[in-house]
Amino acid sequence: MRRFTCPSCRESTIPPGAKFAATSFAPTRCPQCQAPVYPSGKKTYLLRSLESLIVTMIVILALIEFSWRLVALAVVVIAVMETLIFLFVPLVRLKLREPGL
Ligand SMILES: [Zn+2]
Repeated sequence: MRRFTCPSCRESTIPPGAKFAATSFAPTRCPQCQAPVYPSGKKTYLLRSLESLIVTMIVILALIEFSWRLVALAVVVIAVMETLIFLFVPLVRLKLREPGL
């Protein structure tokens, strides 16, 4: 699998697993330039909001008339949105406050 581009040194250095696990609280480090990076919080938040909105609508539909197709649809929506977040949300460099500034 291809590696993701580091936002700091522009090299394809970030392994997919590291991107998947990285958050702004626990960023991963670029093996080349040591920059702390994580998937952009704002875009992840937007996609997650859209995901929960769609899933909520499916749940309401399932309450009105339950069908396993709706349950399957909800699972597919969650899988697709998580994949979109994983593949398309860009990595950003964590801005650390420099000591003494
Ligand atoms: Zn780098």
